[in-house]
Amino acid sequence: MGAIQENIQRIVEEKNKIAEAAGRAGSEVLLMAVTKTRTPEEIDEAIDAGITDIGENKVQEVMDKFDRVTRPVRWHLIGHLQTNKVKYIIDKVCMIHSVDSLKLAQEIDKRAAQHQLTMDILIQVNAAQEESKFGITVDETRQLILDILEQCPNVRICGLMHIAPFAEETEEVRPYFRQVKELYDQCAQISHPHLEFRYLSMGMSHDFGVAIEEGSTVIRVGTSIFGERDYSKKQ
Ligand SMILES: *Cc1c(COP(=O)(O)O)cnc(C)c1O
Repeated sequence: MGAIQENIQRIVEEKNKIAEAAGRAGSEVLLMAVTKTRTPEEIDEAIDAGITDIGENKVQEVMDKFDRVTRPVRWHLIGHLQTNKVKYIIDKVCMIHSVDSLKLAQEIDKRAAQHQLTMDILIQVNAAQEESKFGITVDETRQLILDILEQCPNVRICGLMHIAPFAEETEEVRPYFRQVKELYDQCAQISHPHLEFRYLSMGMSHDFGVAIEEGSTVIRVGTSIFGERDYSKKQ
């Protein structure tokens, strides 16, 4: 058994155990493999080991790898997206996790209409208000959702995405996860045909345990599956 397969099995067991201890079914938490810097061969290996959803954070990497990954899989865009690049991925990804402005949602809406599709999106919330990260504040989230629902008929808002600040001690980030979960529960009450909250995307290699305990339904894991990233290596 290869290292990727072993890592995936271990993480699936771990996430299921944590979910069950928190009173939820393991199947309620999706393990997404984050495949930035990884080769199409590595991605195929992960899919063979049971991965159904992969996340890339750069448009260029989606375009480079899309035709070279031979197994069927759902592609997600999880990194910052510039409006001028939406057109390149609109027909490739099943969900965009990083929507943090009306302008970006409007561009997604326009491109989705051209392709006669409805694009699933998540709103990226920056609960810690870190300068270095994208996403909108907790206070702005509800209004952005209402504006998108009113102005963007070709998008469906499926939940929230959050990247916690890095902390050696993951307990330190629990309050952020909890705050985003509260916001998620509030926004899920909005009644609109294009609001279908199903995904609370939070938790990465070092903090997914705490994220699941606080209600995450999608964990985005790269390093723990594939090892440390080497950004100098060409895919
Ligand atoms: C890289 C990345 C991840 C995965 O991070 P790891 O620490 O490698 O698990 C998750 N989410 C986003 C948005 C990322 O860019």
